[in-house]
Amino acid sequence: MLPSIVRVVADLVLPVSCAACGAPARSLCDACSTDLLAQLVRFGGPTWVTPDPEPAGWPGCVAVTAYEGVARTLVATFKDDDRRDARAVLAPLLAAAVAGVLSGPGPDGAVHDTPTALVPAPTSRAARRRRGRDSLAELTRAATELLPDPVPVARVLAQSRRVSDQAGLGAAARMTNLAGAVTVRRAHRGHLAGLRCLLVDDVVTTGATLVECARALGQEGAVVIGAVAVCATQRRARRPAADGARPPETSGSSRPRLNVGGELAA
Ligand SMILES: [Zn+2]
Repeated sequence: MLPSIVRVVADLVLPVSCAACGAPARSLCDACSTDLLAQLVRFGGPTWVTPDPEPAGWPGCVAVTAYEGVARTLVATFKDDDRRDARAVLAPLLAAAVAGVLSGPGPDGAVHDTPTALVPAPTSRAARRRRGRDSLAELTRAATELLPDPVPVARVLAQSRRVSDQAGLGAAARMTNLAGAVTVRRAHRGHLAGLRCLLVDDVVTTGATLVECARALGQEGAVVIGAVAVCATQRRARRPAADGARPPETSGSSRPRLNVGGELAA
């Protein structure tokens, strides 16, 4: 009797299945760990990614892996299956993306100073209620604690209205769906001028969410220096340009890039 109770309690506290494939393991099994590492290597390290088509107002974003395989499943199980233990794997990936922004010039040639705040994209009220938590804010807090100089997490954004599920929508439809849908929380309005923000999302697809977040922050006078994400369904990716190295040619990449606030104009 007692051992079975202990087992049940232990199962609740310590997951006994891999968060990615369900095999008996703690958090992430050996095979999935290997797959994830291979996935990270294939992506080539923290990389500036640009959705295609590039949305107007795109703030620039560093991601660390393609949205596929183990990484994709981990993001989903962390968010929707309450596998909070997946945070131990995802947080270092997000921290690596932040380090990627700070490590060198972005595609526009701008070198980014340390942001004064990490701003997670808002989770819809419905999703928060369903999950009982704000998983992205939770992940962002875990990631910043891994940085040599932790950056404060500012949960200042909220969805101002209900939006349709983005899944299945194309780039233009997503943009329309999200236009004006993000706002700065009332308590923070009038207090964000000059704040140097790095936006955070778990997955970047069309870029519509990050653009909308950057717009809302820019309206309050905050300076969005870029964004980070764990995964990108990237179609055009560029390594942060090394000294003297030219990034690969991509259509439209020669024009200067204006970040919200205009501070990082090339
Ligand atoms: Zn596994």
